[in-house]
Amino acid sequence: MSVYFDHNASSPLVSAARQAMAAWLEGEAGNPSSVHRPGRAARAAVERARRQVADAVGVVSGELVWTSGATEALHMAVLGCVPRGGHVVASAVEHPALFGACQVAEARLTRVPVDGEGQVDPEAVLAAIEPDTALVALMAAQNELGGLLPVEAVAARTRVPVLCDAVQAFGRVPLRLPALGCRLAVLSAHKMGGPQGVGALWIAPGLRLWPTLVGGGQERGRRGGTEGALAAVGFGAAASVVSERLAYMPRVAQLRDRLEAGLAHMAGVVFHGRSSRRLPNTCAWRFRDVPGDVLLEALDLEGFYLSSGSACSAGAVEPSPVLLALGLTEEEARQGLRASLGPENTEVEVDALLAVLPRIVERIRGSGPC
Ligand code: PLP
Repeated sequence: MSVYFDHNASSPLVSAARQAMAAWLEGEAGNPSSVHRPGRAARAAVERARRQVADAVGVVSGELVWTSGATEALHMAVLGCVPRGGHVVASAVEHPALFGACQVAEARLTRVPVDGEGQVDPEAVLAAIEPDTALVALMAAQNELGGLLPVEAVAARTRVPVLCDAVQAFGRVPLRLPALGCRLAVLSAHKMGGPQGVGALWIAPGLRLWPTLVGGGQERGRRGGTEGALAAVGFGAAASVVSERLAYMPRVAQLRDRLEAGLAHMAGVVFHGRSSRRLPNTCAWRFRDVPGDVLLEALDLEGFYLSSGSACSAGAVEPSPVLLALGLTEEEARQGLRASLGPENTEVEVDALLAVLPRIVERIRGSGPC
């Protein structure tokens, strides 16, 4: 059996994207900047894909800039908006790419703490803004916990541009970027059924950024480099069927609830972020006295693919900063687990996971401290 419960890491390619990319590969290869026929065809494909993504998030296509993914888009937004040494306010649970971009920009960063459920208080975010704050970063949905952060409540009450990481929200909850009130937003195709290696930065009208990648003037001077037409075509196709994906989400939420109901009967289970407003597909928890990476390895051998609250960094297993931000100890954070579901998951898969977990957990607990 092979059960994939790691959609927040990467969600499988939807058939619309696969078909669009296969059809594109069959055609002539041209550079979208070339004026001959193959070039014009490539330009038409790239612009059609841009419109498809723009339509899916309620913006005008010319406001979207292609990137290699959300990591690059976050860097473009931060480096484009924040002068060296400038001040940034961000929730403590933003993606590491946001914090990395702030480091590259040598920004002065205020991390706004979250409560034990991973929620940030909009008043605390607003209170952290200083006269020279250049950017406020608040994600729409947290990737490890699934919690929805109060982007609208903050954006409505500040003139400082708000950068919204909408990567996990796209395709899981209805998303209209202008309605959030943010002025910058990042998307990534591979979290919503598109291919890996392509994302987009939305720049609201009137906002100008210093370019980060300067080259051949592509993307109207906002990002140099030949557009990745194949990946863009796949992203566009996945975006064009996003309403179908959203229609599945109530069923995905039922599966997630079924999983949580089963877990709640097991000994030593502690849920994370379960009581906050959250994505329909994400379940975060830990088993007391069970290191998450050991459990993940055992589940992998049985064909279940989940994610843990730890990441391997320089050969050592580091506890997740997000779980530490909830107030967990390092040992507790290392016990963190995440199941993130998608439209193709089934009740049979959920029940199969619930059936194998007690045996594996008891075996690990019985083998003593690791
Ligand atoms: N932001 C969030 C919330 C994510 O979950 C991820 C992916 O892990 C990223 C940013 C980075 O995305 P990409 O893989 O497209 O660079």
